[in-house]
Amino acid sequence: MPYQSFIPPRRTLMGPGPSDVYPNVLSALSRPTLGHLDPLFIQMMDELKALLQYAFQTSNPMTLAISAPGSAGMEACFVNLVEPGEKVIVCRNGVFGGRMLENVKRLGAEAVVVDSPWGRAVEVDKVAQAIKAHPDAKFLAFVHAETSTGALSDAKALCALAQAAGMLTIVDAVTSLGGVPVKVDEWGIDAIYSGSQKCLSCVPGLSPVSFSQKAVDKIKSRQTPVQSWFLDQSLVMGYWEGSGKRSYHHTAPVNALYALHEALVQLHNEGLEQSWLRHSQMHELLAGGLAKLGLELIVPEGERLPQLNTVRIPDGVDDGAVRARLLNDYNLEIGAGLGDLAGKAWRIGLMGYGARRENVTLCLAALAEVLGH
Ligand SMILES: *Cc1c(COP(=O)(O)O)cnc(C)c1O
Repeated sequence: MPYQSFIPPRRTLMGPGPSDVYPNVLSALSRPTLGHLDPLFIQMMDELKALLQYAFQTSNPMTLAISAPGSAGMEACFVNLVEPGEKVIVCRNGVFGGRMLENVKRLGAEAVVVDSPWGRAVEVDKVAQAIKAHPDAKFLAFVHAETSTGALSDAKALCALAQAAGMLTIVDAVTSLGGVPVKVDEWGIDAIYSGSQKCLSCVPGLSPVSFSQKAVDKIKSRQTPVQSWFLDQSLVMGYWEGSGKRSYHHTAPVNALYALHEALVQLHNEGLEQSWLRHSQMHELLAGGLAKLGLELIVPEGERLPQLNTVRIPDGVDDGAVRARLLNDYNLEIGAGLGDLAGKAWRIGLMGYGARRENVTLCLAALAEVLGH
């Protein structure tokens, strides 16, 4: 038997990512591959940088897409900025804060952990106390949108605290970018990373990042070389620099970058404010419908992510069986609970192209049928 092409079914992706990809983005992937030093490709890359600056609301020249998923963006931020022995305050209110902590530990840096309850925003007062207790801390790291719980933290307030203390900020915006306001320059974020496959509705595998001038200065004044050769931004910048003289670092994922460009063109054409509004409207629609089904959101109002809704699984309902029926009978994917919420919650994503009325309607109707309402 010869092997055959893999033809996936068409699913509706309403989990924690990847999200439904824009049809135009899928078409962009199949355009002819150019050499990654081709002048036309480089022109596209210059536009891509401008579009990323728009998405991040920044004029940082060091704004680019790492050729690997969000986790690599996370690692790039930590490994470039933090040196062994330096102190980092890490906020943890879910799985991804825990991963930040893991990065800090592996770098041989010293972590001060500020824990907040799962399903809640990072507690700003607690962070203020930690900053006071550790005046020698150089960095504040936190997750803006905790995809494991659906909680949105006050990035503006947290960055203001760090700035007042002369600390640099490292911010996870993997799920927030495009779905809720992310204002890198206005809030004074120093290092930020995101992912292509959440509210940008591109295919997975790329991580947009941006570094402030203060972050660049910190990287340049390092006493030790960056432990990772691949993620060392001082080397990668030679390729992304807008000066026209590109040099080879690694082969850019050419077609994936077409796709990201296309996804950002979509975002730019819609407008960031409109995209934020659409996510919030679709969240309201979903939340209203879930309440009618007697389903409860775990995160309190005011701390909820519109693009990721954690729903408490009612007593006596078989988590796995419900998700399997949604997938098999409705071609609908929703997410399982992660970490402390495993088996206790579903995670319903309304990300990017997925944040639209027909998805909300499908999800509510399918849940009603499967739960026997
Ligand atoms: C998805 C996600 C990541 C990891 O991104 P990958 O592309 O899966 O590596 C990191 N942080 C948050 C908050 C995420 O939601």
